[in-house]
Amino acid sequence: MRYKEERDAVILAHNYQLPEVQAVADFVGDSLELAIRAKETEKPVIVFCGVDFMAETAKILNPEKTVIMPVKEATCPLARQLTPEMIREARRVHPDAAVVVYVNSTAECKAEADIVCTSANAVNVVRSLPQRTVIFGPDANLAGFVQKQLPDRKIVPLPATGHCYVHTYFTPRHVEEARGRGGLVICHPECSMEVQDASDEVASTGGMVRIAPKGEKWHVFTERDMAYRLRTLYPDRTFVENEGALCHDMKLTTLDALLHALQTGEYEVTLPKTVMDRAREAIERMIAIRR
Ligand code: 13P
Ligand code: SF4
Repeated sequence: MRYKEERDAVILAHNYQLPEVQAVADFVGDSLELAIRAKETEKPVIVFCGVDFMAETAKILNPEKTVIMPVKEATCPLARQLTPEMIREARRVHPDAAVVVYVNSTAECKAEADIVCTSANAVNVVRSLPQRTVIFGPDANLAGFVQKQLPDRKIVPLPATGHCYVHTYFTPRHVEEARGRGGLVICHPECSMEVQDASDEVASTGGMVRIAPKGEKWHVFTERDMAYRLRTLYPDRTFVENEGALCHDMKLTTLDALLHALQTGEYEVTLPKTVMDRAREAIERMIAIRR
């Protein structure tokens, strides 16, 4: 890629990106791995193939670098379900609680958080906190997953109904049908508690990469193109995707859009400095814990 070299850019892509975009990226990973990579890269330009909250996290961690999103409209509908006002109101109701904000959130919400988490480290992040009550948003299913692992804490989901449409598409019936076709079921913690309880494993997309060698055949209950990612890593195993689990925003970044971004430098991610400074503290606290 000549334009990538000319721009001295690194291309980061999430596990849900289109196969052809994953294929040309320098690094493909989950939200946590991408945040860490973004923090560690020495390149002056980061081209982020994913959705806005991921590119914003890269920018917050690298305010001096140029972060480019090939499609500026690529957003995460889950992230829009939490607002800073909701967090401030929840703090008034639970004055002794900690606030953990899932990385799938706006920069303004991260700025209100005590600490950020991803689905890979949510349990460890909450475990690291001294508070017994934890306000957790915006994904209520991930909140339920954490609550199940840490019964001595009181997790308050904010909002109570926060969810991702790609993951709540799956039902226990899908688990039953998949089992009928042989193999194990692995689901993302954004799936409903019923689906989590019925599955063999519950893991972030990075966790899926680590767990996959344990089985020969997996039904992958998360976004469709995670199965492509797993197949490239473990070509001797079988991974079955569900075509219905499609994140439309993740699919907006095509190879053409990526090429356009490398040629033109569009679209640069910008955020107010005050928001970035506050959000960075909450993200750095998470990175210090890692997994
Ligand atoms: P991961 O952190 O597991 O990659 O998940 C990100 C995401 O958007 C899940 O829908
Ligand atoms: Fe957001 Fe769901 Fe898409 Fe992940 S899969 S980016 S949570 S809409």
